[in-house]
Amino acid sequence: MDFTLSKAHQELQAKAQAFTEQVLFPHEMECEENDGISPATHKKITQAVLDWGFNAPNHSKEDGGQGFTIFEQTLLNEQLGRATGAIWDALWYPSYPMRFATPEQKAQYLIPTCQGKRRDAYAITEANAGSDPAQCATRADKVAGGWRINGEKWFVTVGDVADYILVHAHVDGDPDKSAVFFVDKNLPGVEVKRTPLYTHHFAFKHPEFTFKDVVVGEDKMLGKIGEGYQMTKDWFVEARLGIAARCVGGAIRATEEANKYAAERIQFGQPIRDFQAIEFMLADMAVEIMAAKSLLYRLSWEIDQSTDRKRNHAHASALKLHCSEMVGRVCDRAVQILGGRGYMREQPVERLWRDTRVDRIWEGTSEIQRVVISGQIKKRGLDVYTGWQGGASAAQVQAAGPVATALAGVAN
Ligand SMILES: Cc1cc2nc3c(=O)[nH]c(=O)nc-3n(C[C@H](O)[C@H](O)[C@H](O)COP(=O)(O)OP(=O)(O)OC[C@H]3O[C@@H](n4cnc5c(N)ncnc54)[C@H](O)[C@@H]3O)c2cc1C
Repeated sequence: MDFTLSKAHQELQAKAQAFTEQVLFPHEMECEENDGISPATHKKITQAVLDWGFNAPNHSKEDGGQGFTIFEQTLLNEQLGRATGAIWDALWYPSYPMRFATPEQKAQYLIPTCQGKRRDAYAITEANAGSDPAQCATRADKVAGGWRINGEKWFVTVGDVADYILVHAHVDGDPDKSAVFFVDKNLPGVEVKRTPLYTHHFAFKHPEFTFKDVVVGEDKMLGKIGEGYQMTKDWFVEARLGIAARCVGGAIRATEEANKYAAERIQFGQPIRDFQAIEFMLADMAVEIMAAKSLLYRLSWEIDQSTDRKRNHAHASALKLHCSEMVGRVCDRAVQILGGRGYMREQPVERLWRDTRVDRIWEGTSEIQRVVISGQIKKRGLDVYTGWQGGASAAQVQAAGPVATALAGVAN
């Protein structure tokens, strides 16, 4: 077993760190003070993303992306997560399910999105469909030459800068006929209903949209009728891995800031880091990060090797749960170590503490991750989490014979 990062991985890590510090950090306070970044800053960062070769890391080179492996995306996302205000969202990851688009859909949507010329948002959540997307009331009905879409979507992240939305809907209002549609924002009937304010001051907004008799062509369905949930689930797996990596990066930056402050801040004639209360907080923060990062790197590597979609989904939930809860504990201690200054919005620890609260809510709350995990334990056995199957897929393990299967402990 060799856990050493290859030279190429180390170079990517260093490049991602330099990008985050040189391109994103300078705009953090602009984002905090203005509740977002200006169009000029967005344009500047977009150009930098292209210049640094970080556009669409998750899509193939043929489709205009970088073709990064999951592990490479993790190395990048970890560094991006050190930036506050979700400025990292200016580096676009076109929605994963678009890789299943037809060649025509790719030419119209995916490829220009990878190239930074278009931008997508993904809309599932509604007023009555949150953790339970089966309650989705947005429907698509067949009309001559296409589909008529009616409904309302909430929390559409980057909905302010996107020019089209991937809308999760039920054909004929039937949850068994879920489907995802490409909906251009400039179509008649697409309206922004409201743009609520949130705890954080992120680079982009999360508007609510209404779709009133929006007619799209036959060719605007991504995949087939009935595949909507699988598409959305795939989107979740990728999004959950990204969240986990950014949480680790955010926790590291908060700990670096707290460690530095504790060494410099003098009270009672000595640096506060020499008080055991502070030292022990830093020790706990370091260990929490070490454990989360080990899990993050292990699962990112394993998911690259595995074709077992269900196991990947099960593991992504565990990772997202662990890393998002970890960053909350770490940032809370970082704020405490900085004392009153830790409560000032000008401090990265304060912003990270506030920014990362949403990581326990979006892309499935912590409770929903526990629902997924406990369901997997019931269906497949505890070994899915406590065993050590490594990178092999269940099918590969099966092919390797009974010893390997027994070691794997989980067949599918
Ligand atoms: C800033 C932000 C950005 C977002 N971006 C997007 C986006 O781009 N696209 C999109 O589609 N959605 C987006 N969301 C929506 C997000 O995914 C949902 O908020 C989330 O899935 C929870 O749904 P809900 O808010 O309706 O909460 P609810 O489902 O109403 O849950 C309320 C509470 O009940 C708990 N709960 C619910 N069901 C169970 C259960 N079975 N067992 C135990 N506890 C349960 C929850 O954990 C939670 O604590 C975003 C949300 C936020 C805050």
